[in-house]
Amino acid sequence: MKNILSLALISLIAVVMLAACGSKGSNGESAKDSKKDTLAAIKDQDKMVFGVKTDTRLFGLKNPSSGDIEGFDIDIAKQIAKDILGDENKAEFKEVTSKTRIPMLQNGDIDAIVATMTITDERKKEVDFSDVYFEAGQSLLVKKGSKIKSIEDLGKGSKVLAVKGSTSSQNIREKAPDASVLEFENYTEAFTALKSGQGDALTTDNAILYGMADENKNYQLTGEPFTDEPYGVAVKKDNWLSQKKLTLLSKR
Ligand code: GLU
Repeated sequence: MKNILSLALISLIAVVMLAACGSKGSNGESAKDSKKDTLAAIKDQDKMVFGVKTDTRLFGLKNPSSGDIEGFDIDIAKQIAKDILGDENKAEFKEVTSKTRIPMLQNGDIDAIVATMTITDERKKEVDFSDVYFEAGQSLLVKKGSKIKSIEDLGKGSKVLAVKGSTSSQNIREKAPDASVLEFENYTEAFTALKSGQGDALTTDNAILYGMADENKNYQLTGEPFTDEPYGVAVKKDNWLSQKKLTLLSKR
């Protein structure tokens, strides 16, 4: 795991974003609609609901024995809850997938997304992001001994597995246009498909693939990362608090 910023810094940045978050108050009233102070609204409901992955080892993985979700994204969410509400146990978690995370935020099901989510210009049209808290890059996971050594080997007739709603699924079509892409709902399904021989390689962020390679030693990352995937915490757009104010707040 490289380039992990200090948790304190991440927490500060993310808190600043969350101060602008439009969450539902305890009476179900939308903070955005009422234009009341959003931070006050979060304090009012006395909890924060984070959309997280539950099948992504190292970032958000449900521990079957305890039932707890564990990982770097979870630690960040807890730190945000601690900073805003004084108690990390006031962070609540809801499972999201790459496809469901933005709709769930827009619906008000969650207050923020902390789910291996890359900051992109396209997504910035729909949500607001914190600063970068982790730098990943897209890569390939293959069975050890595979003939696929790098993205150049994904030619005609090769099959790549990816997850719906991910940048990885879009990028691979550009970077390996001759390969066919098979999409799945989540990373558990995609890895299961790789193990059952449904594809030659699974593609997503190296950070996620390291978790899979760690879980099953018959699989390994191959080639160099071929994209930049900077992760950010996402919150609802169009909050009353301006971006300018957020920048000022981040220097407090
Ligand atoms: N970071 C990439 C994305 O946001 C891939 C990982 C994911 O699917 O969450 O799409």
